[in-house]
Amino acid sequence: MNAPAPRLFAFDNTYVRDLENFYVRCKPTPASKPSLIRLNTSLASELGSDPARLAAPEGVEALAGNRIPEGAEPIAQAYAGHQFGGFSPQLGDGRALLLGEVIDIHGRRCDIAFKGSGRTPFSRNGDGKCALGPALREYIISEAMHALGIPTTRSLAVVATGDMVRRDRALPGAVLTRVAASHVRVGTFEYFAAHQGPEQVKRLADYVIARHYPELVASGQPYLDLLAGVAERQALLVARWLGVGFIHGVMNTDNMTISGETIDYGPCAFMEAYDPATVFSSIDHHGRYAYGNQADIAQWNLARLAESLLVLIDADTDRAVARATDVLTAFPDRVAAHWLAVMRAKLGLDESGEASDDRQLAEDFLSLLQAARLDFTNAFRALHEAATGNPLPLQALFGDSAGFDAWRTRWQARQPDHPDTLLTAMQRANPWVIARNHRVEEALAAAVERFDLAPFERLLAVLQNPYAARPDDIAYTEPAPAEVTACYQTFCGT
Ligand code: AMP
Ligand code: MG
Repeated sequence: MNAPAPRLFAFDNTYVRDLENFYVRCKPTPASKPSLIRLNTSLASELGSDPARLAAPEGVEALAGNRIPEGAEPIAQAYAGHQFGGFSPQLGDGRALLLGEVIDIHGRRCDIAFKGSGRTPFSRNGDGKCALGPALREYIISEAMHALGIPTTRSLAVVATGDMVRRDRALPGAVLTRVAASHVRVGTFEYFAAHQGPEQVKRLADYVIARHYPELVASGQPYLDLLAGVAERQALLVARWLGVGFIHGVMNTDNMTISGETIDYGPCAFMEAYDPATVFSSIDHHGRYAYGNQADIAQWNLARLAESLLVLIDADTDRAVARATDVLTAFPDRVAAHWLAVMRAKLGLDESGEASDDRQLAEDFLSLLQAARLDFTNAFRALHEAATGNPLPLQALFGDSAGFDAWRTRWQARQPDHPDTLLTAMQRANPWVIARNHRVEEALAAAVERFDLAPFERLLAVLQNPYAARPDDIAYTEPAPAEVTACYQTFCGT
């Protein structure tokens, strides 16, 4: 860590500058033998960086944490969080570091951060490290979500450290470079509300308003509007998750961003057969974070944000509670409105129908899927095929189910023809391919156990273009055998 690396990124670090006391400066732990496993060249270019320089030895040293690139000011951010409903007053970046911020070529400010770069003052008993498998898992799923058009943090690079990480066995270690609109979480507000009082909460709120909700700067009630703004983005986000069968898996308040991006890909997974009770996380014994609970949990998390903001919303506590409660009670309707829009697109429906009828039509289709244990993604895609004039995939899925025939008659009566604009919207709402669990595991096993990255690269390439059907990739659209799904478990990314 002697000479500074050449200027790989044009850093401009507002968090460090504006929010002293909100973090601890901290250096990454050098890796003993860094090697580049994956670089997201298009994202690098979007960040205004040169992919060739990032892939060169000095770039890899920087992405491993062995050299601090010029302009970076690495910090561990402080945050708290409710985990599975219980409050942990001090979490913070225990195995992550924010390197700094850049303005991308679209003019958006982005955080560039490491995951797995060693211990920090927030590490508690953890080693601060990340194993290669979970780093690659976050890379695949976050990039798949991005390709689906869902707000998410991105993955810029994975570097193997050359060091082993102790888990239930020794595993190769890695550093993931993550890019986010910011890493401010609900838990960041909880930390300052719990430990430091109103002025610090206000500083944080003013910072995130300027960064993520600039339209609120001139508002007469900016903090109530901030709560409403975060709620609105979360309502949209959860509806989008539901539309592609995504299960976040660990929606603790420290894993919910203020920006509205999906963050922290640990035990997340895509549902196959439709069942709202689906949960894969090994530690989620009661299904708190099951597919169908995600809207309720988002509301619960927003209530924790509301509590942190109360002192800013109104000096009179009763009035503050009443105002915040109005925002929170409106949340289920906001999710329902976004969900209806998602479902109309998935069913190829125009806007002319009664909302309650269209909602019922969608729910009845889902009930049919659940009763027959049909694959969520493929069933909706078969509907798209039927709308384009090929009813065979749909028939193959449902056979001669009388219940389905009755539903199809209603569906066709509701939308007798599908003009091109509806078909295009329908295709864009119904991915042809998702990151199926057995495919993800296959790619990770090859990478970690045999250092064979070909299945990982192939899967990434397939997921880059999720909406267009491609005969060569058809194997990636097949669900896992039911017995594999039945015992599939995901783990927090430690
Ligand atoms: P996560 O499960 O990634 O949301 O992490 C929850 C909290 O545990 C955060 O404060 C992390 O920084 C911390 N944490 C998770 N894994 C480790 C680790 N291996 N070493 C240190 N801290 C960790
Ligand atoms: Mg987390």
